[in-house]
Amino acid sequence: MSTQDSNGGPARVIPNWESCIDCGACEVACQRTWDLPPESDRIQVVAIEHGTDNETNKPMQCYNCAEAPCIDVCPTEALHYTDNGSVRVSGDKCIGCHYCGVGCPFGAPQFPDGEVPEAQESEPLGARGNGLMDKCTTCEPRQENDLEPACSSECPTDALLFGTPEELSEKLDEDNVSTPFNEESAQIIFGDDADEVMGD
Ligand code: SF4
Ligand code: SF4
Repeated sequence: MSTQDSNGGPARVIPNWESCIDCGACEVACQRTWDLPPESDRIQVVAIEHGTDNETNKPMQCYNCAEAPCIDVCPTEALHYTDNGSVRVSGDKCIGCHYCGVGCPFGAPQFPDGEVPEAQESEPLGARGNGLMDKCTTCEPRQENDLEPACSSECPTDALLFGTPEELSEKLDEDNVSTPFNEESAQIIFGDDADEVMGD
């Protein structure tokens, strides 16, 4: 397991959609780890083609995109890249305008009504809550302690893969599944590393 930028690009969590069984363990792991309210959606399992024979479950969270549309549209520079390439929101700059929610193609920005407990720390990971933007941080403090993000760590079916683009490519190959992204999405998420993950 690599952490950020140690092996060919920042480490991210991506889904292996074929393995998700909709058990909700990733959602609970995220909420418990960061003391988030139950209604928090930093990661959420979404049913696709609900009620049909083709129904599948897909865990979704922020991909900390290499070419992040949310950063491009934020009018206050509340959204920015950290040194290791993650996308971070500054609670003291966010004005809750929702532009990032419209700009993100993956539905990642959340706007919780209540206060987000961790945001009260001296170096908040997200916004303050109360209608300001909040999203997945790829559990950076866990990574600094050489731990995987809570969601991928606790998924019982390995439906969440964590690693650098090179490692993600290897894991997808091992599982004999293709990347869940189309070319446009892969370019946004992985930037110059898109071809490696797409297997081109
Ligand atoms: S997934 Fe959405 S919120 Fe996350 S970096 Fe990409 S555009 Fe921004
Ligand atoms: S809601 Fe906050 S983070 Fe999102 S675009 Fe507006 S100011 Fe930026």
